[in-house]
This record gives sequence, structure tokens and C-alpha cells, in this order.
Amino acid sequence: MLPAVLDPPVTAAGGGSLATMSFGPESMRGAPSAGHVVGQVDYRLARNAIVSEYRKGRMSRLDVCDAHPELLRAATNVGQQTGEDCPICETAKLVLVSYVFGSRLPPSGKCITSQRELLKLAGGGREVACYVVEVCPNCSWNHLARTFALGGQRSVSR
Ligand SMILES: [Zn+2]
Repeated sequence: MLPAVLDPPVTAAGGGSLATMSFGPESMRGAPSAGHVVGQVDYRLARNAIVSEYRKGRMSRLDVCDAHPELLRAATNVGQQTGEDCPICETAKLVLVSYVFGSRLPPSGKCITSQRELLKLAGGGREVACYVVEVCPNCSWNHLARTFALGGQRSVSR
């Protein structure tokens, strides 16, 4: 007879957050599912389409300002400031947050806080998918800005 498994879910990757708040590529508006990142894709057109729908009143603020708590946390703590106004509330500047997903990374991805960290991952020899999301820490607007694949393409690096 085996004892019932009562172990709480503990994430090994330091960060301290428990798995209760699952975060993944699908948590970002407009994102393709993981594993479909090829080359570099810009999502500005899709993003502008949503902003336009919002401005025409076809989407409510509740529809577009729904950033995942994890995304907001990252935006506040490690987000990269931009000089661009939030298209929704127009009172705060947008922040960019980068996440990488890959076979040897946690399912919730890894939040990248510096260019150096990204370059290190790129040099690791295994392919990772990088997702850059724009987030407004003020109103919770979020949309994927671009995705690109890194590493795993030996012909590119030198
Ligand atoms: Zn905003």
C-alpha cells in the first residue's frame, strides 16, 4: 500500500512562485503555441488591429487589459522601459518583457532580464523560443510584440 501523495507542487526553478498560477505562451495575447516559433515574427499588425477594435468600441477595456499576474509582476520588476505610450490608457509608458521557452526550460518559461542572459541562452546550442510582450503596468494591457527563435542554428552564429 502506497501512502497518498500529498507533496505540494514545488517548482525547482528559483523564483519562488508555485505552479498554481500557470503561465505560458498562451498567457500572452496573440501568441502562437509553443514550438511554433520560426525565425522572427512581428506582431505589430495584429496588435494594431486590436487597438483599433478597442478604439472603435468593439472591444472593452476588460477584454484587452487582462495581463496575466505573472506578466504584470515581471513588467513591474524587470520590464524594459520604452518611450511609447500605452495605446489603451495613454497615461503610462509601455514596458517590454521577454520570456524564453525551450525543452530544457521550465514550462512557464524563463523571464529574461538582460541582453547578456539572452546571448548566453543563444549560445547554449539548443533552440529556444523567445517571446517579447508589451505590457502596461498601469492598465494591464498586453500584447505580443515579436517572437524569434534563438540558438540551434549553428550556421548563424560565428
Ligand atoms: Zn495602459
